[in-house]
Amino acid sequence: MKITVFGKRRRIILFCVLFFFCCLMPAVLSHAEGENGEVLTVGVPVDRCPVFYEDEERGEIVGIGVDLMRTAAENAGYKTVFKSIGDKTLREALDDPAFDVVMPFGSALPSAAGKETIVSDNLMQTPFTLLTNGHRGIPKLNELKVGMLSSLSSGAETVRQLYPGMEIVFYDTMDEAVKALRSDKVDALLHNSYVWSYVLQKPSYGDLEVKPSAMFSMDFRAGTQDTPEGRVIIDRLNGGIASLSDTYREAVVLDYTTRKLYRLTLYDRIYENRWGIVLVGLLLVAVILIADFRRRALRLEQEKEVLWLEDHDSLTGALSLAGFRKKVEELLRSHPDIPYLLAYVNIKNFKFVNDSLGMKAGDELLRYWVKRTQQTLSEEEAVCRIESDHVAVLRHAGGEEKLHRDDQEVIDSVREFFLDLGKENRVQICGGLYVLTPKDYQRIDVDHMLDCARIAEKEVREAKVDGYGFYNPEEWERGKRVADVVGRLPVALRSGEIQIWYQPQVDYITGKITGLEALSRWNHSTLGWIPPGEFIPELEETGLIYDLDSYVWEHVCRDLKHWKEQGIHRSASVNLSRSDIREDRDISGHFQDLIKSHGLSPDQFRIEITETAFAKDPELLIHTTEELKKLGFQVEMDDFGSGYSSLHMLKEVPVDRIKLDLHFLTETGDVKKGQIIVGYMIQMVRSLGMSMIVEGVETKEQAEFLKERGCSEMQGFYFHKPMSKEDLEQLPAEDFQN
Ligand code: C2E
Ligand code: MG
Ligand code: MG
Repeated sequence: MKITVFGKRRRIILFCVLFFFCCLMPAVLSHAEGENGEVLTVGVPVDRCPVFYEDEERGEIVGIGVDLMRTAAENAGYKTVFKSIGDKTLREALDDPAFDVVMPFGSALPSAAGKETIVSDNLMQTPFTLLTNGHRGIPKLNELKVGMLSSLSSGAETVRQLYPGMEIVFYDTMDEAVKALRSDKVDALLHNSYVWSYVLQKPSYGDLEVKPSAMFSMDFRAGTQDTPEGRVIIDRLNGGIASLSDTYREAVVLDYTTRKLYRLTLYDRIYENRWGIVLVGLLLVAVILIADFRRRALRLEQEKEVLWLEDHDSLTGALSLAGFRKKVEELLRSHPDIPYLLAYVNIKNFKFVNDSLGMKAGDELLRYWVKRTQQTLSEEEAVCRIESDHVAVLRHAGGEEKLHRDDQEVIDSVREFFLDLGKENRVQICGGLYVLTPKDYQRIDVDHMLDCARIAEKEVREAKVDGYGFYNPEEWERGKRVADVVGRLPVALRSGEIQIWYQPQVDYITGKITGLEALSRWNHSTLGWIPPGEFIPELEETGLIYDLDSYVWEHVCRDLKHWKEQGIHRSASVNLSRSDIREDRDISGHFQDLIKSHGLSPDQFRIEITETAFAKDPELLIHTTEELKKLGFQVEMDDFGSGYSSLHMLKEVPVDRIKLDLHFLTETGDVKKGQIIVGYMIQMVRSLGMSMIVEGVETKEQAEFLKERGCSEMQGFYFHKPMSKEDLEQLPAEDFQN
């Protein structure tokens, strides 16, 4: 029980002791502090490093102003606590009871609430300078438009007193102020030099420049409301300020202005390293582009490879069947003038080669064979491995000699392949050849051509011979002839193998020869007489027809001149081929020069152009016809009735005479109907105001019929066959119309 009473008392004592420490101690301590130095709360703006700013590491407000004020206050017996005035202006802060004093002031200004204030003595002279945009000149101070921070509005009033003509624009942040300066909205920015020394540490402000001479100095004072307490504080502070030495002031300023206080922001770092970043960016883009390019190139390469594999045989590098089909079609389309043959070649004992010498040897043989073939091929030829040992080649049909050469150079070397390697295996090769016909160029069917060549190859193989055979030997013979004929034309023209024959044209009523048609005849040195039907189309195709025709025209002129010199006035028709007429060739001019140089008149020269030519290229042909007619030549539409657009052509083409070919209308079908058509045609041509001649007249009946229908101009075997100039000259003079 005793123990309990004692315990209670002790607890009360303990509580009293704790109460004393917790509640009364601060007051005791505060009192003690007041004795050693009262606390002076100083309100300052913190946006003006190095004068006032917040040190993030120490978590307190520091700066030139802080050091000077603290020392002055300490000298005056105060302990200082610096607090930020936040968003308040200095004048607003004067009304805030949280602050004992507020700074910095240049002079005493009424508080925002209009209270009178007093200021301390000057702590230091702060130089205010202008910041300009580079080296640009600025107007006189009194005419300047300057930018200042809104927080410096109290300073601005001092400025206004000093330079009444100066226009001041306020900006909330330094960035906004700098932007305005850069875009020439203001001539300069104004702030204290210490702040500029800090602000200009920002890398992106490197282009800005502080005008070196101080513009003016402003006092740096602490202010408070003009109250008795305020006056006490200011009095005491003035004592403290008076004991600040100039050396100390300079040391503090120097200390802060030489420190690298500016903390680089992310933006500053980016700005500082912008060129490096740009370079790295460019490098990165370049790397990406290169990588993308390589990826595309690789894909393209792969696609190409896939395509190549589709069209090629991977073992030999020759075309595959699919590739061969495409290539042959392409070649035949772009070179319809090249005579081709298609070879289907096969190794007869290939199985034996594989069995006895091994697959590898067989592969090597195939590779060698294709390589040898490729070495002899031109761009317009192609080789393909259809399968196994079956090879197809599209080759120019160059005649017997070339075929023999191919056999020797390619096939023989394949035959001897193993013998050359010292093995006693002669390879047997069978080939089938298909000579392409004009139809093959019109309706390209590669499989059909291959089939034909394969049939020929099979025959050779089954005949147990080694060599080659033709599927269509007659085509081969014909091709050889054509090649020979076309190739020989220049020689034939020079050597006189080409002759000009004339077929007379008669007026059936008078029985007199009224004209002649000049026709070529070729007396080939080895082939004998070749009919025009066998060489004219080939020459037309190869474009050589102009050589022949201009030769014919020249000789006809010579003959007409010759007869003229004998006092015989004759006229002759010449054939003008469709391919003689070209945009770049002045045909009418050519004829004019010809007759001029031979002293002939244009009426002695008739020009025959086939109806089909008009149908194929009407515009150019019609233009040429008009030109010829302007020069006085007679133009005739040859082979009328052979084409498909005869009637339409009649109204379009400005020819003088129509030459109707009797064959086309009477040779086949119902003769009676043919005659009716001919009858109406004569009538129609006459009604259209054109004259008419009928060729191919072979019988008296035909001649009589034509006469009855009103056409007396005729040409045909019934009257005369084409004859040489000499034979023509043998005809009695009275047969000719005067
Ligand atoms: P074309 O101009 O229609 O010549 C008439 C063709 O019919 C000639 O054939 C002639 O011999 C033939 N002929 C004439 N009367 C008869 C007849 O009663 N019955 C039969 N069955 N045929 C008859 P040719 O000389 O063989 O000439 C054929 C074609 O070749 C010519 O037809 C012409 O288009 C062309 N030609 C001939 N020589 C030349 C030439 O020097 N230059 C050009 N560009 N073409 C020519
Ligand atoms: Mg003719
Ligand atoms: Mg004709």
